[in-house]
Amino acid sequence: MSGDERHLELPFTGPATFFKAPHVPALELHRTGGRFDVGILGVPFDFAVGFRPGARFAPAAVRAASGRYAVPPSGYYDFETDSYSLGGARLVDAGDVDVAQLETAESHDRITAAARALRAAVALPLFVGGDHSVSYPLLRAFDEVRRLHVVQLDAHLDYSDSRNATRWANSSPFRRAVEALPELVNVTVVGLRGVRADPEAFAAARSRGHELIAARAVHAAITDVVDRLPKGENVYLSIDVDALDAAELPGTGSPEPEGLSYGQARDLVVATVRRNELVGVDLMELAPELDPTGRSALLSARLLAETLEAWWRVRAE
Ligand code: MN
Ligand code: MN
Repeated sequence: MSGDERHLELPFTGPATFFKAPHVPALELHRTGGRFDVGILGVPFDFAVGFRPGARFAPAAVRAASGRYAVPPSGYYDFETDSYSLGGARLVDAGDVDVAQLETAESHDRITAAARALRAAVALPLFVGGDHSVSYPLLRAFDEVRRLHVVQLDAHLDYSDSRNATRWANSSPFRRAVEALPELVNVTVVGLRGVRADPEAFAAARSRGHELIAARAVHAAITDVVDRLPKGENVYLSIDVDALDAAELPGTGSPEPEGLSYGQARDLVVATVRRNELVGVDLMELAPELDPTGRSALLSARLLAETLEAWWRVRAE
């Protein structure tokens, strides 16, 4: 045995928090007086899903899965570069937003308030949804960020003005966000595919100059896609796990074939982090109970771990 023999790191020991970080509710973080490097907030809201629900269970599933990626005191070790990342990083699990089930506006206000409280206490806020409608109230908490860019990994555009007689579904968060945030300059969407596209939404996104990149383009030449990502900007990264291929990550409400591999998604995330100033990250649409193998939650936790690892390396450079 090596190291501190009293402190073991088995993934399944509890209590389950994100990456085994200490738990301080977002609205109480100001009382700690401390500043954290990374804060992770759960948003168990999936009441805006038009197809298969279940993302309300994602924060709990990612907490359980992320025990496997708890950051050791010295950090994650990378054998390829013989170096460490995230050593000494201060992480906090900011709990879950108390969502009001059928009161959308009330839930949105609670989500924005919790996100603002988290932003005030941490260098990098990370959010685990929830369905993708949640990105709109989260982005409202970034309304003072100048020249904000969004990078969205997604099979779907999520830019419909209205769908099935509602403006608040998981088909519309980025349409609502650009309406509410004058400083939201642009959205780059990577991973688009499928046959259910809303022509009005695509026309509106194109006319605003959004960068719309098909999954097919990633398969053809990922380096060309990386060149189309923003550079030197303030970026909010929004990861819809259905950007990944349905075979690799089946635990999501609206899976689509011909999606990104885990490695492609990871490379796009790392490139986004390295090229820009990351102001926030969300991971949405994981519906863990649709995948009895549990790998969707494990891959989601690992993608978040690799996002943090890349962010920390850039910060340390
Ligand atoms: Mn989405
Ligand atoms: Mn999607």
